[in-house]
Amino acid sequence: MTSIRALAGACAAAFASLCGLVAPAEAQTYPTRSITMIVPFAAGGPTDVISRIVTGHMAQTLGQSIIIENVVGAGGTTATTRAARAANDGYTLITGHMGTHAASVPLYPKLAYHPEKDFEPVALLAGTPILILARKDFPPKDLKEFVAYVKANAEKVNAAHAGVGSVSHVSCELLHSILDVKPVGVPFNGTGPAMNALVAGQVDYMCDQIVNAVPQINAGTIKAYAIATAERNPSLPNVPTTAEAGLPAFQAQAWNAMFAPKGTSPAIIASLNAAAIKALDDETVKKRLLELGSVIPGPKDRTPEALATLVKNEIAKWTPVLKPAT
Ligand code: ASP
Repeated sequence: MTSIRALAGACAAAFASLCGLVAPAEAQTYPTRSITMIVPFAAGGPTDVISRIVTGHMAQTLGQSIIIENVVGAGGTTATTRAARAANDGYTLITGHMGTHAASVPLYPKLAYHPEKDFEPVALLAGTPILILARKDFPPKDLKEFVAYVKANAEKVNAAHAGVGSVSHVSCELLHSILDVKPVGVPFNGTGPAMNALVAGQVDYMCDQIVNAVPQINAGTIKAYAIATAERNPSLPNVPTTAEAGLPAFQAQAWNAMFAPKGTSPAIIASLNAAAIKALDDETVKKRLLELGSVIPGPKDRTPEALATLVKNEIAKWTPVLKPAT
């Protein structure tokens, strides 16, 4: 009996040490194949551009390619639903943002996912100030004229956006509530295509994330009335803040961040977070993100826990402000 008990004890000990090896081994081997990063908007827009810049570097760190898959529709919620239902094995991730992982909660009462319950936060990638932009030949010359013009012509003007719940939609909703106007919205599958329409003069104006705006402003293909942050952005030194231009109440900065489906192992989340941080610290990645006006998260804001807190706070912030879309 003693020998059987001893044998059982030895087996248990062997099993325990084997178990102990499983988690680190997973972290050591992950990833063994390419990873899919879902981008919930069209290619060429701000979320797509940020995702491509950061994952390009992460792929080198992880030793596997990261394939961007643009899945469009319903202000980014179609893609986010898909990501929430994906296998939680680290091979399907999503770049979510202030819209998909916060503002959509009050806007879509039947949202098929919950940003906090259905995702593991991985890392905040970039803060993205919002600008008020217009087609080049839109009559107002500056923000004061814009405000007067939109108020006087609210039934005639239109605002492009990337679908209900997208950053561009929510930001202009905020602007419109300050101005007390309800212009027509023109939805696109992302602000990439919306920007093309703005450049082509097919729509009047848009509230968009800086990453999408800098190349066009510098090329002189659109007008920028103001940036909705407390300070001017170094990438656009000539664009005044909303406070400088006479509309201090309009303040808006979005964010883009990486998430994995709920239940993805802590070891995988840790590998992904470390790779994302390494990317944000890379000089070339940093330069590119800063050239496009992004705000790179500082050390305190880079942990999965900090992202979880951001999501929680952003849902609490937007819920009383936004009414369900009809
Ligand atoms: N971030 C979106 C995009 O990449 C647009 C939006 O949320 O307004 O197109």
